[in-house]
Amino acid sequence: MRQYIIAGNWKMNKTVSESVQLAKDIVEAVKDVKKTEVVIAPTYLAAAKVADVVKGTNVKLAIQDIHWKDQGAYTGKVSIDMVKEIGAEYVIIGHSEQRQYFHETEETVNLKVKKTLEAGLKPIICIGETLEQRNGGILKEILGLQIKGAFKDVSAEDAAKCVLAYEPVWAIGTGVTATDEQAQDTQAYARSVVKEIYGEAVAEGMRIQYGGSMKGANAPGLLAQKDIDGGLIGGAGLKADTFKAIIDAAE
Ligand code: PEP
Repeated sequence: MRQYIIAGNWKMNKTVSESVQLAKDIVEAVKDVKKTEVVIAPTYLAAAKVADVVKGTNVKLAIQDIHWKDQGAYTGKVSIDMVKEIGAEYVIIGHSEQRQYFHETEETVNLKVKKTLEAGLKPIICIGETLEQRNGGILKEILGLQIKGAFKDVSAEDAAKCVLAYEPVWAIGTGVTATDEQAQDTQAYARSVVKEIYGEAVAEGMRIQYGGSMKGANAPGLLAQKDIDGGLIGGAGLKADTFKAIIDAAE
């Protein structure tokens, strides 16, 4: 049985004080959650303070991105050691907004995945197609390239520590959600690609989140699907009650 993982990606939202408050609200809201792994990803600026709030609770910390270099002249970037020191457990890698606006490529995703694993942290690797790609009939090709690219030269043992997040670009922040069936079919395909690379055991063990306008109302249907093992949540993760409603569906 794969454990559900519900992760809130706060993106470029919340000041430091607002982030601390939201983290406190979430810690309080999920204190009785037992079965689901709960993760939050604040901004870099708020991460250290949020880390203090979640320490010793059942809420884990993720970072929204890292640079793959250890240190140096990379203005605006954060290294894996910085993230590790504050106690983050997960790193979100390859989010479609990084791919769309900040030149993320299959190569940089792969470098970040390897750097994260090397440091003993766990990647949440985002994949997903645009509407043009889906309508153009190249959904499987795109997902295959993204998955194979992310896992290039990653051992089966390391791959088993990763989480995949299937996020159709057309569903992110749009209010349009993939249907239960669309999400299930696509995630089953993603799992089959993992199986092709690493075999049955790694594929069956890997958790695949759905992301794209997930909320309390549509979470039960999505999370009931065989190949959907959680959610990567944007908008609905910015309030403790809307985030908790999704976690309730997983519990
Ligand atoms: C996301 O950005 O990962 C996301 C899924 O956003 P939203 O839930 O707002 O669509």
